[in-house]
Amino acid sequence: MTKTQLWCPDTCGCQIEEKFDDATGIITYFSTVSACEVHAPLADTPAHYDTVLAENRGKNFAMTAAMELLPELTEVVSTEDGQVTKFKTGFHPSYTFDAERKLVLRVKVDDAAALAF
Ligand SMILES: [Zn+2]
Repeated sequence: MTKTQLWCPDTCGCQIEEKFDDATGIITYFSTVSACEVHAPLADTPAHYDTVLAENRGKNFAMTAAMELLPELTEVVSTEDGQVTKFKTGFHPSYTFDAERKLVLRVKVDDAAALAF
């Protein structure tokens, strides 16, 4: 059985409907609900989904890699979903995309966190 679900990535303002196949677990593009300014030229095509998904996965990979490279800046916390690694209080990760849609990852450090480090 397949069903559609709405995906709103945290890397841009696009909203895309995905088709989820229960039997295989495979998720594919279904339709464009809305497209942000950057991705508007790709709206209503599977390339829209592929592009936004690649950017979102790249961001997730970079955030994970940054935490693995800087373990002294992270901590493991318990949540309802289990244990999660996150940046310690006072370290604020953020990301943007440059004009060529290359990911730029930053970690802003509060003064108190920098002194304690
Ligand atoms: Zn977008």
